[in-house]
Amino acid sequence: MGDISAVAARGKLFCRNLFRGKAPALAMLIAVLTLGAPGAEARERIPLPKPRPAAAPQPDERAAATEADKPDAGRPEGEPQRAEAESAKPQPAPPSACRLALTEQIAIAPSIPDITGPGGCGGTDLVKLEAIVLPDGTRVAMTPAAILRCPMAAELADWVRSDVAPIATSLESRLAALDNFDSYECRGRNRVRGAKLSEHGKANAIDIRGLKLASGRMVSLTDRASPRAVRESVRQSVCDRFATVLGPGSDGYHEDHIHLDLAQRRRDYRMCQWDVLEPMPQIAPLLPAERPAEAPPRDVAADRPQDREPTREPARAAPPEQAEPETAEPAAQPEAPPPVAKKTKAKPKKPRGERPPELR
Ligand SMILES: [Zn+2]
Repeated sequence: MGDISAVAARGKLFCRNLFRGKAPALAMLIAVLTLGAPGAEARERIPLPKPRPAAAPQPDERAAATEADKPDAGRPEGEPQRAEAESAKPQPAPPSACRLALTEQIAIAPSIPDITGPGGCGGTDLVKLEAIVLPDGTRVAMTPAAILRCPMAAELADWVRSDVAPIATSLESRLAALDNFDSYECRGRNRVRGAKLSEHGKANAIDIRGLKLASGRMVSLTDRASPRAVRESVRQSVCDRFATVLGPGSDGYHEDHIHLDLAQRRRDYRMCQWDVLEPMPQIAPLLPAERPAEAPPRDVAADRPQDREPTREPARAAPPEQAEPETAEPAAQPEAPPPVAKKTKAKPKKPRGERPPELR
């Protein structure tokens, strides 16, 4: 109220100066009506807004901020729009029956995103097969981890659990790892440019080189030195399971690994091409056969000066007639070295170096 009284006093003074006593009664009336007690009463009935804080944004700034905030999904009015966008997105496919069955009691094989590559490469329902879990809980590592479609990974896991692990026990150790040579790779068959897309490009194949045992021993599946019974057993087991088995003796591209895949063919045609080779003979290397008497003489170096001369030019090997047995007289043979003049004519000119002995 102190402020209001001061304002009223200033109004009275203003009016007094304005009318200069010409109409003091009228001036007083106007002053009272405009700035006096009635105005103070009205301000008491209608409270004034609080003073604006210095840090508050200016009106125009606030309007701009409001406009900018309109598309903000965080605002309540943006919620319905965001919900619509979420519903428009393609929902991930539900887990396949294979995925649900391939539990961590069978394999450590986390799912990975689908792959879409060039030329039909890629696949869906992919996993990264890191290890197979044996029924006793021990793990057989896949080194390195294999990128495969779930059905291929599941078949591989079942093969290792049911077939390979028992075979490995015959080697007085246990299976520790599989040597993975190749799994998913966008390429043609046998890496031939322009060839039909390999099952590797569909994440439907794997190349195995060998079995690693807990003892540290590596058993190559294609090495003749590996126990033949093991190779035979493994061959039988893979040919019973997989649509394609390619190994040594198949096409020349699989001499050092075994290719396995689940290719789908007409009438369920299957390929099992793996020759389990005999071990190498455990005897000393055979001596070369005795040279037959009618065989032509060997091309050997001679001691005669005229025969030594051509050896100075490696690209010009001594012709066979110059390597005749020493018992033959060179002058008596039709193929004997020609006369000096003829020989000089036949031979290209030497750019440098010493002259042949017969020309000296
Ligand atoms: Zn392969």
